[in-house]
Amino acid sequence: MDVYGIIGNPVGHSLSPPMQEAGFDALGIEARYVTFEPARDAAAAAVKAADTLGIHGLNVTIPFKEDVLAVVEPDRLARDVGAVNTIVFDADTPRGYNSDVEGAIRSLRYHDVTISGAEALVVGAGGAGRGIAYGLAEAGADVWLANRTLERAEAIASEFSGVTAYGLDRLPELVGGADILVNATSVGMEADESIVPIESLHSDLVVMDAVYRPLETRLLQDARSIGALGIDGAWMLLFQGVASFEYWTDRNAPVEDMNQALRDSL
Ligand code: NAP
Repeated sequence: MDVYGIIGNPVGHSLSPPMQEAGFDALGIEARYVTFEPARDAAAAAVKAADTLGIHGLNVTIPFKEDVLAVVEPDRLARDVGAVNTIVFDADTPRGYNSDVEGAIRSLRYHDVTISGAEALVVGAGGAGRGIAYGLAEAGADVWLANRTLERAEAIASEFSGVTAYGLDRLPELVGGADILVNATSVGMEADESIVPIESLHSDLVVMDAVYRPLETRLLQDARSIGALGIDGAWMLLFQGVASFEYWTDRNAPVEDMNQALRDSL
């Protein structure tokens, strides 16, 4: 029986166990996926312990995604973004990847969205916004990164080429000229509210929300009501899991089975 898991603190809310185990079961891989909650200063120790114990692979979530960089060999994407959420233990030094970024990009591509050459507006410059802005710019989009705290967006824009920073006051005008809009703020989680006024949306827009609780956010409801394509936050979550699964197993992930298990858990 192979063991995989996730380290985070807190981690009890994680939807990865049912999603990953559905993937293993569908391919007949004898494996279990468990949650681990190390102390907040114990990321490195946890990764070393997992390696010693023969755990096959780990996901890494908040607050450890940056800390584990010190004890893995990150690939270029993880190094550039400065965060690791997937670890593979098949070499002397564990290898680190960032499947969060891949999840956002694959989610758009799964919905036949053309990224290269698109004007992509990312709202939110926290951990999610940073990764998504990087991924979209790498995939050839012109990225406009808008954030409540302008300095946070500016810091990211100064690091990544193809990313320009804005304050939220510019949103209506930016949305009007965008092909893709990604909400990478937490707005929409706690209350039935949207970061973008419905009057700014247009029907040619692709709207992807990182928020997945609730699945049908106010932003997505507004987008769909005016005929825009809406992509809920479970798709990003699914495709980060799919990418992690593929790093660990070297096999194509059973996307439909994993999607079903994820949505059942939500
Ligand atoms: P984070 O690092 O805490 O960043 C939060 C972001 O939201 C910041 O840009 C913050 O702006 C902004 N924000 C918060 N409240 C706001 C408000 N009232 N008005 C305007 N902006 C506000 O969080 P994160 O890790 O990036 O996560 C952001 C969201 O993405 C969360 O809902 C999370 O669940 C979701 N997420 C989803 C996935 C997925 O796979 N679907 C993956 C990762 C994250 P300031 O900088 O001005 O504070």
